[in-house]
Amino acid sequence: MTARRKFYGWGREDQTVSDEETVFLARLFGQRFGATLVPRTGPRESEFELRAPRLAVPSTLARICSSDRHDRLVHAYGKSFPDYVRMFKREIASPPDVVAYPESESDVFAVLDWAAREKAAVIPFGAGSSVCGGVECDVGDAYAGAISLDMTRMGKVVEIDRASRAARIQAGALGPDLETQLKPHGLTLRHFPQSFEFSTLGGWIATRSGGHYATLYTHIDDFVQALRVVTPAGLMQTRRLPGSGAGPQPERLFVGSEGILGVITEAWVRLQDAPKFRASASVKFADFLKGAEAVRALAQSGLNPANCRLIDADEALGTGAGDGSASLLVLAFESADHAQDAKLSRAIELVRDHGGVVDQPAKSESQHREGAAGAWRNAFLRAPFYREVLVPMGLIIDTFETAVTWDRFAAFHGEVTRRIGDVLKRVTGKPGSVTCRFTHAYPDGPAPYFTFQAMGRMSALLEQWQEIKAEANDVVVSAGGTITHHHAVGRDHRPGYVRECPPLFAEALRAAKSTVDPNGIMNPGVLIDPQGIKVGVRGAMAGV
Ligand SMILES: Cc1cc2nc3c(=O)[nH]c(=O)nc-3n(C[C@H](O)[C@H](O)[C@H](O)COP(=O)(O)OP(=O)(O)OC[C@H]3O[C@@H](n4cnc5c(N)ncnc54)[C@H](O)[C@@H]3O)c2cc1C
Repeated sequence: MTARRKFYGWGREDQTVSDEETVFLARLFGQRFGATLVPRTGPRESEFELRAPRLAVPSTLARICSSDRHDRLVHAYGKSFPDYVRMFKREIASPPDVVAYPESESDVFAVLDWAAREKAAVIPFGAGSSVCGGVECDVGDAYAGAISLDMTRMGKVVEIDRASRAARIQAGALGPDLETQLKPHGLTLRHFPQSFEFSTLGGWIATRSGGHYATLYTHIDDFVQALRVVTPAGLMQTRRLPGSGAGPQPERLFVGSEGILGVITEAWVRLQDAPKFRASASVKFADFLKGAEAVRALAQSGLNPANCRLIDADEALGTGAGDGSASLLVLAFESADHAQDAKLSRAIELVRDHGGVVDQPAKSESQHREGAAGAWRNAFLRAPFYREVLVPMGLIIDTFETAVTWDRFAAFHGEVTRRIGDVLKRVTGKPGSVTCRFTHAYPDGPAPYFTFQAMGRMSALLEQWQEIKAEANDVVVSAGGTITHHHAVGRDHRPGYVRECPPLFAEALRAAKSTVDPNGIMNPGVLIDPQGIKVGVRGAMAGV
């Protein structure tokens, strides 16, 4: 039997951080911040006092509903820094009253009907990897209760159209399950966010997630062919077409809707043949901005590398991919159809023109996973597990991501780095670190991803984070970027979204919501605020 999902931490209960890793991390971060860090045990299920469920489940839905303590804990929060802090402090003000696990579309309809009758809120839940407050049940007192609607029992690849290379897949499919079902057909969705193992197709679509491709097929949007959505007002099914010029595209309204318009139950997605040809190299740059210029040249060259991650020198050092003396560009091409060496050769010429120093290009499959790129990849995959031990040591570690046009990038990078450096010092009394990498590169601009770290005060960790996050929210928008490139809006980014969203569009979105969700039961408090519900404890938006 598969182990249960952790309610505190990343992954399943059998995926632990070893004592050796914990000691190593305490020493590493202790040295970095000149502090003695003491590992502390995470919370136990029995230590939580959850308020009694406020909803009585009708007998017809008992089969798929649970008010079990573990289920309510798993569905109480997502996986952001403040989620970890509050869970570690054993603080859950708004647990779901009921967790529903629909097994079919008619189950989803039945739960929505019940919620509408009871005036309860429904919070669609994929795998709960939201890092912006998208799945918590902090819906205010206007609702009789909150139902977390967990989609993971609807995880099948239902139909494959080999000729068009597309598949109909249920929204609750987790990344690995979906790929396992496609593999016998030689096909792949090839959408690999870092949270791939514990996030779902429906969650990706609802948040417009970004996968591993650094160019071209970056967002899940590019793979969505058609959608099936259950809304409180009825079913919406869009047509399968390779493209269409027939007015605004219906599925686009639901891609990025973050659960406020309805429940995505299925999607037809565009697939690819599994790649057989690869070519990769890592490139060093003495200066991050020089590296950025090289990435711009690559992004505008039409070569479309699958991987084109520029990592600044400090982040390369922190992940073991570099020695801190140079920024690192991880460059890779892949194809199911033809060799990629010529593309790599041309890319190498381009990066050399911008001062890049190229390591020996990888020749074999194993070489693609070794060296600086391999070290970075390993740290990238392991990092999500470390938060559960770092937070109890009092460390503030978080990330924020954005996108900005090339003409503004250099000034933007300078401004963000300066203001986050300043706020870390102001809030914690000591210097922290701010690093940057590119997750994606477009012809017209990069998607920079910032990581900040500082030694916090255990008793005030949440408040300290709130102040830093408010500064981050403000600086990315005022310096010309978007509030989020792929982490979604949720609760934490809502004020930034309000700033970048034209008022008339916001009104149109509210009107669309009142059409498909007339009683306002779908994920209240996320993305938009049609009913004036106050933003909850996260409070990250103060000052924005
Ligand atoms: C360690 C880590 C790494 C991450 N890496 C990436 C990354 O590389 N790229 C990236 O884009 N994001 C990343 N994220 C963020 C997160 O994984 C994505 O936002 C992901 O798309 C969420 O999927 P989920 O299934 O977990 O959805 P959830 O977190 O459960 O839900 C997210 C939002 O979507 C809504 N929703 C979920 N399912 C449905 C549905 N079927 N119908 C309607 N609404 C629904 C929810 O109500 C909520 O508002 C990362 C998060 C973590 C913790």
